[in-house]
Amino acid sequence: MNWKDCVRKVTPYTPGEQPKKDGIIKLNTNENPYPPSPKVLSEDVEMKDLRKYPDPTIGDLVRSLSEYHGVKAEQIFVGVGSDDVLGMAFLTFFNSELPIAFPDISYSFYPVWAELFRIPVETVPLDEDFRIRIADYEGEKGGIVFPNPNAPTARLLPLSDVEALLKAHPECIVIVDEAYIDFAPEGSSALSLLDSFPNLLVVRTFSKSRSMAGMRIGYAIGSPELIGAMQAVKYSYNSYTLNRPSIIWGTRSVEDEAYFRETIGKITATRERFTKAAEEYHFHVIPSSANFVFASHENVPAKVIFETAREAGIYFRYFDQPRISDYLRITIGTDEEMDKVLELFRKMGL
Ligand code: PMP
Repeated sequence: MNWKDCVRKVTPYTPGEQPKKDGIIKLNTNENPYPPSPKVLSEDVEMKDLRKYPDPTIGDLVRSLSEYHGVKAEQIFVGVGSDDVLGMAFLTFFNSELPIAFPDISYSFYPVWAELFRIPVETVPLDEDFRIRIADYEGEKGGIVFPNPNAPTARLLPLSDVEALLKAHPECIVIVDEAYIDFAPEGSSALSLLDSFPNLLVVRTFSKSRSMAGMRIGYAIGSPELIGAMQAVKYSYNSYTLNRPSIIWGTRSVEDEAYFRETIGKITATRERFTKAAEEYHFHVIPSSANFVFASHENVPAKVIFETAREAGIYFRYFDQPRISDYLRITIGTDEEMDKVLELFRKMGL
């Protein structure tokens, strides 16, 4: 035997760039351009308490989320960002010989977890307009996972389609990754289907709509049976996941509904304004229900726009991949930031 043959070989996920330079207009990782609720920071973290381990049950935050969503505490699993929650869910639920299904164009972390945990995969192509076609998910699966709204396309799958998919797949766990759902029209979330489908897991994050990507907080909501299974896996791996400041500040954020709504309102208004303006610069913009848009230009390659913008200190996300290499993913920033983007389009003669 050679130890080199025993080393796990994986192709890791590539996170978006986090530039060190000041003055960059950073529209490449779908962060929120506004700060978290001022109430978050009004709660001090006691230095003397940091010597102690945090609450392994993350009780305060679980309770406030359970009140917020009107579900039982046993229906909530909290983790270190939704990446941690999704990874834990893959490990817990996707243990079949049958492949798990997800769209060919979607969150690029899914194939990475699948490889890490040795889960067989079937990618299902989106249609020509980048829509998920639920009819293409026929047949027994080892699991199904997709972002809704999808990333990087920003397209929303209507709730009626999510329901039809769940009806067609009682045999497996269906994970709906709702990282961006707060930017979609009300009534789009699969949370309303929880009572009807014990195999549904909805995953959320504080990184986008709650402006707390730096705190790393995510959660899942599902039936007590699903959440119990995830807790057992978590306590078999690492009991103390969320640190004390994250628990305290996360709980504060949930309590400030007015600020949350106001921020989302500003971002969706900017998104609509920016979309119209970009169309005037000859971009084709996929209708977005998220805090970013996915757009291609009529005659200038996306890569050229990406590189020119980068030189001008404006960062977008570009995926050099089949089917989407003509597209840019542009996070919606403040109105001022988006005006600078439009100014760049004008200067480029787009
Ligand atoms: N799901 C999707 C679809 C995402 O785009 C992201 C952000 N990269 C995540 C999950 C993970 O976000 P976080 O770990 O910050 O909660």
